[in-house]
Amino acid sequence: MKRIICLLAAAFLLTGISLYAKPRIRIIATGGTIAGVSTSPVSTAYSAGQVGIQSLIEAVPQLPLLADISGEQLVNIGSQDMNDAVWLKLAGRINELLNEEDYDGVVVTHGTDTMEETAYFLNLTVKSDKPVILAGSMRPSNAISADGPANLYNAVAAAVSPACRGVGVLCCMNNQLLDAKAVIKTHTIDCDTFEGGPSGIIGYIYNGEAHMLQTPNNRHTFRSVFDVSGLEKLPEVGIVYGYANASALPIKAFADAGFDGIVLAGVGDGNFYKDVFDVAVKAQENGIQIVRSSRCPTGPTCLNSEVDDEKYHFVASLDLNPQKARILLMLALTRTHDWREIQEYFKEY
Ligand code: GLU
Repeated sequence: MKRIICLLAAAFLLTGISLYAKPRIRIIATGGTIAGVSTSPVSTAYSAGQVGIQSLIEAVPQLPLLADISGEQLVNIGSQDMNDAVWLKLAGRINELLNEEDYDGVVVTHGTDTMEETAYFLNLTVKSDKPVILAGSMRPSNAISADGPANLYNAVAAAVSPACRGVGVLCCMNNQLLDAKAVIKTHTIDCDTFEGGPSGIIGYIYNGEAHMLQTPNNRHTFRSVFDVSGLEKLPEVGIVYGYANASALPIKAFADAGFDGIVLAGVGDGNFYKDVFDVAVKAQENGIQIVRSSRCPTGPTCLNSEVDDEKYHFVASLDLNPQKARILLMLALTRTHDWREIQEYFKEY
């Protein structure tokens, strides 16, 4: 009898402990200004990716109040050096942490220059509805009013919040939550640089709590068909910038090098100079998928508008800017080379 009572007491204690256990959040550090060090607290000259994960965590002693925190360093780079290989490694590691090691959420610290691209890549390749939040900073770690610690604290607050579950990958900057598809870096140096385009921010953090304003309606994460788990590299896709009197040399170079796809950052609604257009038509005929996007910061690139996509088998990027269209095209090309199916992916994701 005594034994049964002891067992019951132990079971009660363990359930009680697990009921009140803090969420387990893993921080994966990749570098960026949040890990940057400046020559002086007032200088704009600094190097990104200098400080390690442990220092980032120690800079925010309030983190353990929110979660059971641990961290790891994946790379320590300025995000201008982010590449497909690191993305594959990062997606694989996050899937392991959430699906095999039972973490409740992941925060990725990242440079702001290409944060929107990494967020969108993860939005299409993470296989979980648990929160994945990217955070960075615009001021180096030793600057006056460094914004990194507050952004990291807020990102962890988002990662533990049930409100941030099932909504896809989010960026957490300047007290705001931005969804991976919409988020764009709009200012080269201001702390208030990230915006959510026409749909605006998806939520905000106040007093250490996430408040959601809307949910994204595109497919993402646990509903995405893209699986990079067995891949060592991604299809090669380049971006060609549009401008008046544009040279056709860059698009020819990509085509001659045998790239799998080319995204045109066209003018206006995804138009491009006649010389570039001629090369694009030939490239498409030779099996290189052309996606039309726009250098305009906002607004869609519409299907069959001034350019007859149907006739040339081009794909219109719709709401995706060129750098995100590149990511979706790379992933689409891992599954199909049919331009109609690729256009469907651009409608869904
Ligand atoms: N170029 C650096 C990077 O993207 C600095 C930008 C930043 O982190 O704010 O990592």
